[in-house]
Amino acid sequence: MLALILVSLAGAIAIGWIVSGRWRSSRRRAAVAARPFPKAWRAILKRRLPLYQTLPPHLQLQLKRHIQVFLSEKQFIGCGGLEITDEIRVAIAAQACLLLLNRKTDFYPGLRQILVYPDAFYVDREHRDDIGLVSEQRHLLAGESWQQGQVLLSWQTLLNDADAPGSGHNLVIHEFAHQLDQEDGIADGAPLLSSITDYPSWSAVLSEEYAALRRCAAEGLPSLFDYYGASNPAEFFAVVSEVFFTRAAEFKLLHPALYHELERFYQLDPASWQ
Ligand SMILES: [Zn+2]
Repeated sequence: MLALILVSLAGAIAIGWIVSGRWRSSRRRAAVAARPFPKAWRAILKRRLPLYQTLPPHLQLQLKRHIQVFLSEKQFIGCGGLEITDEIRVAIAAQACLLLLNRKTDFYPGLRQILVYPDAFYVDREHRDDIGLVSEQRHLLAGESWQQGQVLLSWQTLLNDADAPGSGHNLVIHEFAHQLDQEDGIADGAPLLSSITDYPSWSAVLSEEYAALRRCAAEGLPSLFDYYGASNPAEFFAVVSEVFFTRAAEFKLLHPALYHELERFYQLDPASWQ
């Protein structure tokens, strides 16, 4: 009996500790978000996130509050000799937080560090062929999202994206869409949706559009989406997320059902911003 009481007591203490921890965390975040947004950071937003100017005022405010929280919780590490500056931190945080607007969010809870390289960078990978032979291969990458809590980015690619905001490409959006996808433990193009009733249409629409992109890629037919999205469902979700934010009007016109799924997921209608 005593053992049962002690177990129950330990359980209650653990739950109380978790709840009070979350309460402290949300209080801390509210205080951080309420800090004045530095004027110099506003100038960075205008330079490095042209989309910022098109956001309705309430979303601009929400974004600035999110950026403060994001920057207070994530560590930035300069790689390959790159020195981390406010320009780099704010530009990356702004684009990462764009994906969190209007949504119930815990600010990429699995993400701890953002590693920034001056330009594209090499990573070594083990490759296993069809008969099981393992070899080391070197890949040149602009970015990567790891499930162990890191995102890797090329600063030069981010600068190129900022200079061509309507190109349909945005490295930061791509890699942070992967982070959202990975929040349920699997990178499969199916992030956590807000309601269980959203899954059937998400699955049906994304599967159909993914198959259509694979056909386009195989036959060399034009597509609004980069063929890279035909690699697998996780890349498809990341690629269509880039286009959703950067070429929203065309996306909505050409792929209305897919646009609607992303609009419901991201709780945003970027086509209405232009
Ligand atoms: Zn990717």
